[in-house]
Amino acid sequence: MITTRFAPSPTGYLHIGGLRTALYSWLWARHNNGKFLLRIEDTDMARNSEEATKAIIQAFDWVGMEYDGEALYQSKRFDIYKEYIDRLLSEGKAYKCYMSKEELDELREEQMARKERPRYDGRYRDFEGITPAGIEPVIRIKAPIGGMISFVDGVKGEINIASSEVDDFIIARSDGTPTYNFVVAIDDALMGVTEVMRGDDHLYNTPKQIVVYNALGFELPRFSHLAMINNEQGKKLSKRDGATDVMEYKRNGFLPEALLNFLLRLGWSHGDQEIFSVDEMKKLFEPSHISKSSSCYDMNKLLWLNAHYIKETPNEKLVEMLKDFGVDLSGDERRESILTATKERGKTLVELATQINLIIEKPTQYNEKDMKKAIKEDTIDILNDFAKLLMDSKDSLKTPADFHHALENFVATKEIGFGKIGQPLRVALLGSMSGAGLDEIMNILGVDESTQRIKRLVDSIS
Ligand code: GLU
Repeated sequence: MITTRFAPSPTGYLHIGGLRTALYSWLWARHNNGKFLLRIEDTDMARNSEEATKAIIQAFDWVGMEYDGEALYQSKRFDIYKEYIDRLLSEGKAYKCYMSKEELDELREEQMARKERPRYDGRYRDFEGITPAGIEPVIRIKAPIGGMISFVDGVKGEINIASSEVDDFIIARSDGTPTYNFVVAIDDALMGVTEVMRGDDHLYNTPKQIVVYNALGFELPRFSHLAMINNEQGKKLSKRDGATDVMEYKRNGFLPEALLNFLLRLGWSHGDQEIFSVDEMKKLFEPSHISKSSSCYDMNKLLWLNAHYIKETPNEKLVEMLKDFGVDLSGDERRESILTATKERGKTLVELATQINLIIEKPTQYNEKDMKKAIKEDTIDILNDFAKLLMDSKDSLKTPADFHHALENFVATKEIGFGKIGQPLRVALLGSMSGAGLDEIMNILGVDESTQRIKRLVDSIS
């Protein structure tokens, strides 16, 4: 069985890099009918917050990524880690090291002077003398002395790291608390994780974790290290570029389907297909198509996907979602025609809400630049005539097509260009020259409201 996991450190919100790692792990588990587990790496008491854990779980809920069983908290597992530390000690695979801070500093300086990489020199590895008094020892694991530590990475291929790069690292501090690489290896092994997917900023933790696996006789999982997401300049993604809290995307009017689709393609491909439903993702996802090189965050691509998913969303569901953005169409009989007129114009729910408000709320002011452009000497007469035409043919104006013909007839009879009526009419109805199609807007507003808005503009010009 394939078992994957996501193991966030709750030191802040879940950002999109983390969500992508989680997504790949989740998809690979679901693809195989396997298990996807959540482990909260909260051993760093000073930097963790419960709020951050809640935010991570909330983000998972929002995107619909469900994990199997209960989330596991490292902070509740110290007894387990202690057991394994004791076991390694009693088997002679780990040992107490009594080096003082001063001695460590001295060693480091000597090594640096010789232009060597600082590493522990193993002086207590097989120590048999009398241990110094007054020092609480740390516990170090015996790392292999010669040869290579090798593994086949699911993304990067074969990785060989000289054992000399990995010293006898500390697995328990002098206060007894276990260290990061030690607990990660123990947990992944005990949770039965078969595939560890994580960012490649963790690549150099892996040989250390392999030392722990080997010392305890655990079977190695497959490791896959994902290349980073960069900004459009090829630099590390910053908060400003979009490396923010996943829930910020919700607040900014993105749909979870769009965000998942975006993240899926940010580092994975299936031919040149761009749009993937969640079911399709589960069916098609395969780690062998994860990209080896870093990917580039492209906001326009995300907006394009979001526009696509907004268009695909049934109106009933949009009505519900729009409530969070200050638009409640649930009691409005015109909701179908309002959404039909605006749905293609919002790249986000925020934009869609703006488009809808333009229609359902009377303009309170007119855009000055657009006024200058739209209002000519003859505009008042043209608007008044058009308002009269609307009133006179009120009974026959029932669909957008009817309004369309009315407009066409109007410009034909008057022998004027369309802009002469189209531009000021748009300002009259919406306050500016943006928004949905005029015939659709008039159909939604009806003749009375449309003529009232025209008259208000006429009054304000006169
Ligand atoms: N807790 C680590 C992080 O948030 C992830 C460790 C792992 O996936 O092995 O970066």
